[in-house]
Order: sequence, then C-alpha cells, then structure tokens
Amino acid sequence: MPERPRDNPSEDSPDDPLGMPVQFLKGVGPIKARLLEKLDIRTAVELLFHIPTSVDDYSQLCTAPELQAGVEQAVFGTVAERDVRHLRGGRTLTGVVLNCDGHFIRGVWFNQPWMYKRFQEGDRLIFRGKPARRSGRWEFNNPSVTPLHEDEQPDQLAGILPRYPLTEGIRMEGMRKMTHAAAMSLAHFIPDPFPKALRTTLQLPELAVAVRSLHAPTSLEEWEAGRRRILLQDLVEFQLGLALRRRMTERLESPEIAVSARVDARIRRLFPFRLTAGQEDAIQDLVRDLRQPHPMHRLLQADVGAGKTAVAAYGLLAAVAAGHQGILMAPTEVLATQHWETLDELLAGSRVRRGLLLGGMPAAHRRKMLAEIADGSMNLIIGTQALIQDSVRFHQAGVAVIDEQHRFGVRQRSRFSTAEFSPHVLVMTATPIPRSLCLTQFGDLDVSLIRDLPPGRQKVITSRITGKAEEDQVWQFVRQQVATGRQAYVVCPRVEGQSEEDSASAEQLYAQLRRGELAELKLDLLHGQMDRDQRHQVMDRFRSGETNVLVSTTVIEVGVNVPNATIMVVRQAERFGLAQLHQLRGRICRGNFQGYCFLVSESETPDAVRRLTALTETTDGFQLAELDAELRGPGDILGLRQSGAMPLKYADPVKHLDLLKESRVAARQLIDDGDFDSEEYSDLRAVVLLRFARLFDLPQAG
Ligand code: ADP
Ligand code: MG
Repeated sequence: MPERPRDNPSEDSPDDPLGMPVQFLKGVGPIKARLLEKLDIRTAVELLFHIPTSVDDYSQLCTAPELQAGVEQAVFGTVAERDVRHLRGGRTLTGVVLNCDGHFIRGVWFNQPWMYKRFQEGDRLIFRGKPARRSGRWEFNNPSVTPLHEDEQPDQLAGILPRYPLTEGIRMEGMRKMTHAAAMSLAHFIPDPFPKALRTTLQLPELAVAVRSLHAPTSLEEWEAGRRRILLQDLVEFQLGLALRRRMTERLESPEIAVSARVDARIRRLFPFRLTAGQEDAIQDLVRDLRQPHPMHRLLQADVGAGKTAVAAYGLLAAVAAGHQGILMAPTEVLATQHWETLDELLAGSRVRRGLLLGGMPAAHRRKMLAEIADGSMNLIIGTQALIQDSVRFHQAGVAVIDEQHRFGVRQRSRFSTAEFSPHVLVMTATPIPRSLCLTQFGDLDVSLIRDLPPGRQKVITSRITGKAEEDQVWQFVRQQVATGRQAYVVCPRVEGQSEEDSASAEQLYAQLRRGELAELKLDLLHGQMDRDQRHQVMDRFRSGETNVLVSTTVIEVGVNVPNATIMVVRQAERFGLAQLHQLRGRICRGNFQGYCFLVSESETPDAVRRLTALTETTDGFQLAELDAELRGPGDILGLRQSGAMPLKYADPVKHLDLLKESRVAARQLIDDGDFDSEEYSDLRAVVLLRFARLFDLPQAG
C-alpha cells in the first residue's frame, strides 16, 4: 500500500523515486498535478496506487468480416456519417456510422441526442459492445466508445484498458497515460511487504508486478491477478489488525467465573419464561467463555425481540454470584433506563445491589454511585457511555455487556479492557448484521447466534400504503384496534414541518390526527427535542395504557417494550433504512397479539420499492440484513463512511466476501503459528500497525 513506515529515512530524500512529487513524472506537469491533488494524489507512489476500478477489453479488436452477432467485441473505424431521427413520443435515435476498411458499421443510441455532437466526421473511434445484423449491416446498440487521438494507432490501444476514478479536468485517456508511464518506469521500486511464503500460500504476484499489471495489463488474467493481489493485501492487512487485537485480548487476564448448578438454578428461577433453544445455546457459549482466565470477547447476534436481554442478564448475574461486578452499557438513556427497569424488576426481592448511571444525574447522586462502584458495594451497574468516563473506577469487573446498536466502535469497546480492568465482554447488536460486516467490523469477536424467537410470537403483518384512500383505511383500522384495547405507534422522519402540510413532521401529524382522523382517541407526542422528564412522562403514560396512540420520531426505535402496542404506522417510510424499519417493526411483536405494520410511502424509486417490498415479504432480520448490505453497501450501514473510518481501502466486504474469508484464514494462521512475529514479517508488521494501531487500540510493539 502507499503508506510506508515514517521512520524510513529515504522517504523525504530526493533520490526516493516513489516519494517524488507527481508533477515531475512523465506526462504530468504542474497543471495536472494540481488536479490530481483532488484525488489525493501528490507523489509517485500515490499515483501508482490509484487503482483502476475495472478494465475495458479491447483485446478482441476485430475487422468487420470477423464480427459475430451477440458477442462482446470491439471494432475500429472512422466516422463517415451521423444522423438523429425523431421518433414518436419525443424519443430520439442517434446514429453514427463508422467506415471500417470499407465496411460500414452503425452505432445507435436511444434518447441520447448529444451523441450526435460528440463526434465529427473523420473522427477515429473504437466501438465496443455486442453487435447485431440489421438490414444487411452490423449495428452496435449503445456501444461504449473510445476516441483515438491523431497520433494514436488502434493497435496501440488494442488491449486491456484500465478505467479509473477521475476528477474534473482529467480524462480517462490522460489518466491512462500518466499511470501507464509511471507503472512502466517506477513500479519496480515498490517494496513488497508480503514475504514470498505468504505470496505462495495466497497465490499472489509480487506487489510491483501486480501494480504494473493493473495499469498496463497485457491480458485479462494478468489484470485479474493484479486486482486479486491489491484486494487481498487490503483485506489481509485488515484481518491481521483484527487478529492482533484478538491476540492482545487473549493475553489479558480475567477472573475465572465458574457457574455452579446452584447459581445456574438461582438465575433461571428469575425468568418468568422458559429459555428458547437459541438462548440456551448462547448461554452455553457464555458459560464456557467465563470459565477461561482470559476475557471473553463475544458478539451476540439475534433478531429484534429474540430475547438477548435474558442472555445478558444471565452473564451479569453469573459475575455477581462469583463476587464480581456486572456492567451493562447501552447507547442511549432511553435504552439504558429500559434495561434498568427490566433487570430491577427481575431482581425484585434479591440482595443484588444495583444502580443506574446516566450522564445528566445530579452531582451528589453521581458521587455516591461512583463511590459505591469503586468500593465494590454496587454489584450490578447499568448505564450509558457515562460508564466509560475516566471518573468511573470499577472494583472487580467480571462481565461487561455492551448493547451496541452499531454505535460504539472497536475503540470504545476496548475501554473496558485495560491492563487493570479486563472483564469478559459480551457485545449485542440491535438487529442482525450481514455476514460480511460481521467479519470486518466485529471480526475480532466470537459469535453466538439466536435464530429462534420465543414461542407464541405472532409475525407482524406488514403492508405498503401508497395513497390517501389507503391511508384513511389505516386510521380507521387504528380506531378499531384501540376499541379492542390495543395501542399504536405512528413514526415520522422529522420533528417539525417545513411547510404547512408536511407529512414528514411528527408535530404536524400529531396536530392533524388530533383534530381529524383520531379525534376521539388519546394521543401523545414524543421526540428527541423534549427534555428528559417530559419524555419519560410521555413514555410512562403510553406504557400504562393511558395514551392510545403515540406519535413520535425514531426516539422510540431502541428497546422500547410495550406488549400491548400492536400497530406501527411509519410515515414517509422510504426515508428510513431497512434495518431501522425492521427494528421499528420489532416494537410491535412483543406481546401475544397480532401486530400490524403500515409503511406509508409515495416513493416509486426502485430502491425504495425494493426495500419496502422486502419488508412486506419477510420478517427474518437475518435475510433483511443481507439485502440491506447489498443495497446500501457496508460503509453506510455502520455509518462508517460519514465518520471517515472505513477500514478498507480497496476491498468491499460485501462484493469480496470470498476474498474476505480467505484473508481471515490466512491472517489468523500467521498469528497463531507465530510466523507474523518473525523477522521475515517485520515490514508487514510495520504496515499493519501504521494502518490500524489507532483504530484498534493496538500496542505499537505488536
Ligand atoms: P431483544 O433481543 O430484542 O433485546 P428482549 O430481550 O427485549 O429482546 O426480549 C423481548 C421480549 O421477549 C421481552 O418482553 C422478554 O421478556 C420476552 N422474552 C425473552 N425471552 C423469552 C422466552 N424465552 N420466552 C418468552 N418470552 C421471552
Ligand atoms: Mg434489546
């Protein structure tokens, strides 16, 4: 990768060819150099690692008589004639005829009239696509076109041409020339951090060779091999970072917590239900881990409502029974409070000393709690991120459960694991996450899956609502359900409206429903701009059944649990992500009543339709998670793209899942066999630490 250790003395010296400013490279110059900066390309090595995203295959440059119908091919010719035909309905058909050694071949484009202007008679072009015979002539429908400059010969081009991400002022041909020249003159200087043994195992070319074949491939195979090398290098380095992190936690010491039959029975007696098979399996994983003298590092994946809290409670109470503290951290105050109420109720009548720690607590109360946490008299502590502030000193932390909701990163997770304080850690995600992300973002954790739901759960019936008439029926249905004693949520994307009749606004819908469709019912409004006491009052009224309908923003998303609520209406549903909608829907399958979810959306974009339709077709969160990853790409799911913390440079964990798995096996093996600690791997170690020490909180010594 372009990064090399900073202490390399040759880095800044002028005779370091890779560190040379791009300006001085052949075919670049000061003007292009300034443009390249927009692509973060400043030095030769950065240009060399400006990796093509795909290639155009011109290796099949055919003569006209060689053409075959329906096969991807390319031909070269000179523009002889152009025309635009106006068809019915305002559509156009643009044609460009090439003279290819006396044979006339036509390219056609529907509704792209600008194609006419793009070419002049006499221009030399390559058409690429799948031709067909039309009226005795070859025709390419919507071909891709490469124009040749005056001094360019078609057979110079004939070959595999890389395609690059570009920026304004730099065209594909120009970029190709720069990268090609740089690859030919400088690629051989690129050091290879992968030792030969690793390259052999993974069947990879040398890095210098790979870079050359990416910019100047002579065959598709060569390009593929180069690409595989770049992707695998990206992934292997990342997986090595994760594996190092894993090894680091394995070397920490934790209390060995054995769960006796007596303790087991005592914990189970607290639950008002029989655990599901999935919960039992997860608890078994947990019990096995807790017995070890090294910290557990486990991810609990389950669908919404599968009962993760019971598994968490089991772990926490096992710690408490062994004389250690149990800690539960949630991402929001609403959720922390909810957990607190659940556990407090579960433990009614028990001697376990328990407390809730939130950010905005009165100072005196907070001081008292911190003291009791520090001296160990508090056994079970529940809270928000207020728990990982420096002022919090735990006494003997045995088990930490992190209800993660994708919001805490690896670094926050590790706040629980310092030298003095290494509890067993259980991470729980709100909804299932796609396998590809599990292997990246949570790649250092062991995984337990709960695939079943508690018995008697009704599957929520979900419908997509597209018009006013349908929406009126929804409100009528809400009135009927409330008459039988049920309650409803109505969720809007925003708090305030931007116009009088803004259907995205919770405040406006609340006012509208109160005046109109739901005038006879008791309504309440909840959103994040209300202060905490107000919010709690609203939630208490809804929980007690005093309010029939709660109009809100997504503040109710996390963890809210009102079994009597059976209806979820989501306004402008296309504005929410799949996982978020699934999670919202999870709020209404908590009791034994049939739940109904209405996704109101006028949007007809294919993406929105696909998402909303998927929700009407399945309630399986694992399946929805995979679809979500496919539709949105992994970075967006975890909010990593915005935060700039995408750990991978070239690879995409969804598209390259197979390579991801391969890299994971290789990385773990290198760490487990100790090879990674050998002299041979010192370069790769340096590269991995440079990239990931900060992100993963790794000790610089590896
Ligand atoms: P989540 O996995 O979404 O956090 P919860 O732990 O909040 O789910 O559980 C959802 C609901 O299911 C709670 O009301 C809980 O009491 C109930 N529940 C959990 N496990 C069982 C079980 N084995 N049998 C019946 N109900 C259960
Ligand atoms: Mg939960």
